[in-house]
Amino acid sequence: MIYLDNAASAPVLECAINAAQPFLTECCGNPSSIHSEGRRAALALIEAREKCAAAVGAKPEEIIFTSGGTEADNMAVSSAFLAGLENGRKRIVTTKIEHPAILESCRFLERFGADIKYLDVNAEGYVSAEQARELITEDTALVTVMTANNEVGTIQPVCDIAGICRERGVTFHTDAVQAAGLIPLNVGDIGCDMLSVSAHKFGGLRGAGLLYCRGGTPVTPLIHGGGQENGLRSGTENTAAIVAMGAAMEYACRDILAKSAKIAELRDRLISGLLEIPGSRLNGGISPRLCGNVNVSFAGVEGESLVLGLDLRGVCVSSGSACSSGNEEPSHVLRAMGVPDDMLKGSLRLTLSEFNTSDEVERTIQAVRETVGTLRDLRGWKG
Ligand code: PLP
Repeated sequence: MIYLDNAASAPVLECAINAAQPFLTECCGNPSSIHSEGRRAALALIEAREKCAAAVGAKPEEIIFTSGGTEADNMAVSSAFLAGLENGRKRIVTTKIEHPAILESCRFLERFGADIKYLDVNAEGYVSAEQARELITEDTALVTVMTANNEVGTIQPVCDIAGICRERGVTFHTDAVQAAGLIPLNVGDIGCDMLSVSAHKFGGLRGAGLLYCRGGTPVTPLIHGGGQENGLRSGTENTAAIVAMGAAMEYACRDILAKSAKIAELRDRLISGLLEIPGSRLNGGISPRLCGNVNVSFAGVEGESLVLGLDLRGVCVSSGSACSSGNEEPSHVLRAMGVPDDMLKGSLRLTLSEFNTSDEVERTIQAVRETVGTLRDLRGWKG
């Protein structure tokens, strides 16, 4: 099996499994308990928090553990909106290409009076900092722009947008779920107030994530209860998954530039091989783009059929975004980029990790060529 769906979930790293193991098998303590088993779990959370904080250049007390990227995004958007409301600020500026965790949070808040404005993207899948400047008004509570897009891998000008937000005194959040583990992330360099991360995208376990919140940024808890996470996110901590996330983050940051360069070489070969297939196009600009992302459309085929055809040939990929696979609607990201109709439904996302090889890339190119050919023959597509 060739696994090229790392942006959906990456394989769990051995170091993450080893870190989690004792908290699944030996240590049964609840981190809130004061006996030795509880203290052991609590200590492990402290260490994981330190590792996660170091990985993004934050202080440990600025890290709030969550159940994943979706919860971190929801918390960021709702917190900033509620804090803004207190000062009469109702506007949220976001982009047309955010993950549904952001878009649906914004839609939800519209019911409570939020005024949502969306940054456009150009044909290559990039937003503009200048448009962000225009959309930020006196009543803006939050600007939220993803660091890198989950479908087409385009890396957004978040440092520039964060700079504008700082000048205007507006909270800036970035969803770094896809970027974590592939590009170096430093909250100070980005200049963000909040940043979301999800463990299963870089070799941790599903069910853990975090929201970085710069000290002083108002945070409103969404989950109320026993007061864990400094009262900001109640609920007994998922010790094993959090400890695994700490280990995976530490691993992911080590030699990140060398690992990314190796993945980018595989990506570039995969892109060039796939674009040799007639009636194909690359979606999303090449620079700056996540090293692991390839998104290609093929005229005359449906993305879902391609995914299933490739699965039969032992290659796991996704059409559009895996989080919404099974959804027949064409991707909102490709639509926002103005991808032509005949290419909208035939998009394929292949996402690489450091564990993929050149041989797998060559076999994938061949498998895609054959699958596209078969599907086009079935539909009598002539090009
Ligand atoms: N944000 C982005 C950009 C994503 O790609 C995803 C998942 O694919 C999420 C948020 C949601 O993360 P999680 O699956 O941890 O809830």
